[in-house]
Amino acid sequence: MVLPVPGRIESLAERAARRGDRWFPSSKTCSSCGAVKAKLPLRVRRLVCQQCGLSTDRDENAAINLLRW
Ligand SMILES: [Zn+2]
Repeated sequence: MVLPVPGRIESLAERAARRGDRWFPSSKTCSSCGAVKAKLPLRVRRLVCQQCGLSTDRDENAAINLLRW
């Protein structure tokens, strides 16, 4: 799997904001099964999905969601 570089993540986030859906919960949505976590404090750096068991870095997960979106 190819990991996006930080600059790419930032530009994707900006693009998402420009498209008007700034409420898309990209960092809380599982990039594997689409389940959305109700709470994910900013200090939590890893997303662990309780639906499918995916464990991933939250920024990486968010980047994957924005790429697909
Ligand atoms: Zn999942």
